[in-house]
Amino acid sequence: MLAYLGDAGRCGAALALGSPVVSGRVADGGIALEVGGVESMTLECGIVVNSAGFNAQAVARSIAGIRPKIHGPGQPAPDFLIQGEDAHGVAGLVNLFGIESPGLTSSLAIADHVATMLSVR
Ligand SMILES: Cc1cc2nc3c(=O)[nH]c(=O)nc-3n(C[C@H](O)[C@H](O)[C@H](O)COP(=O)(O)OP(=O)(O)OC[C@H]3O[C@@H](n4cnc5c(N)ncnc54)[C@H](O)[C@@H]3O)c2cc1C
Repeated sequence: MLAYLGDAGRCGAALALGSPVVSGRVADGGIALEVGGVESMTLECGIVVNSAGFNAQAVARSIAGIRPKIHGPGQPAPDFLIQGEDAHGVAGLVNLFGIESPGLTSSLAIADHVATMLSVR
């Protein structure tokens, strides 16, 4: 994990701990996230990759206008579900749902796929 963090830092990423996304809304040209914690804030984002694990559906639901549905009535539950704009209609938002085992092993491939979806390679 430290190696991943080092790679991310070299690419300009920052890790913010203790900063839960409590809600969000689709705003002009992006997505505004309300972030709680000791110093709550509003983050205006061009891109959001919702990777909140078991909370990912709750986070998606909290963003006004997003109605996450992993599968239809009577259909078997799918494995990983990676939802982009074509599924929910919001540019710049990717939801990662149901990333159970072997999600850790698959994480680099998932990241590649998401980067391609968002054209940020
Ligand atoms: C016991 C066990 C063993 C496993 N073994 C393997 C294995 O050997 N190989 C393998 O490939 N996979 C394994 N897995 C599966 C793997 O752990 C998951 O697929 C992977 O962790 C999913 O990654 P994720 O980033 O999607 O979610 P998570 O790892 O769950 O990360 C989600 C993150 O989002 C944060 N978060 C939640 N809500 C919010 C919010 N509102 N705002 C901000 N942040 C939030 C959480 O604090 C957490 O840090 C195992 C899982 C378990 C439970």
